[in-house]
Amino acid sequence: MEETIFSKILRGEIPCHEVYRDEHVLAFLDIQPIAHGHTLVIPVEPAATLDRLSDASAAAIGSVLPRISRAVLKATGTKDFNVLQNNGAPAHQTVFHVHFHIIPKPNAEEGLGMGGWPAKDIDHAEGAALAAQMRAYLAED
Ligand code: AMP
Repeated sequence: MEETIFSKILRGEIPCHEVYRDEHVLAFLDIQPIAHGHTLVIPVEPAATLDRLSDASAAAIGSVLPRISRAVLKATGTKDFNVLQNNGAPAHQTVFHVHFHIIPKPNAEEGLGMGGWPAKDIDHAEGAALAAQMRAYLAED
């Protein structure tokens, strides 16, 4: 994986507003927040996208996300929030080191907007085949 700005933050070469750190995980404030308290949670492991992250790092992040979220909500006096995780440039990823955004949603204007959500009704026959295909891939992974 190519070096990213988050590798430099992990090594302490670039400063950050640290929120949480353990052996596997670092959380810090986003430098361009879309809401007060916008926080990033990253694995120490340098995986570019979530599908390449080890089970151990994924478990470590998953186990602290709720606790970090609670701290973000208490510190910002917010009760609603989004967790966003982008993978790949077309999916709006700009830093190619896995990160979860914790974004408080204090009101309709601030925080994450959901302007484009192109929902349509599922085709159940197609859905059954697709889910079976995914189960097969999971069984061999
Ligand atoms: P994404 O578009 O999901 O890849 O989000 C990358 C995020 O990293 C953006 O919200 C940036 O504002 C944030 N970011 C980039 N550089 C830094 C930095 N040095 N410190 C904190 N956050 C950063």
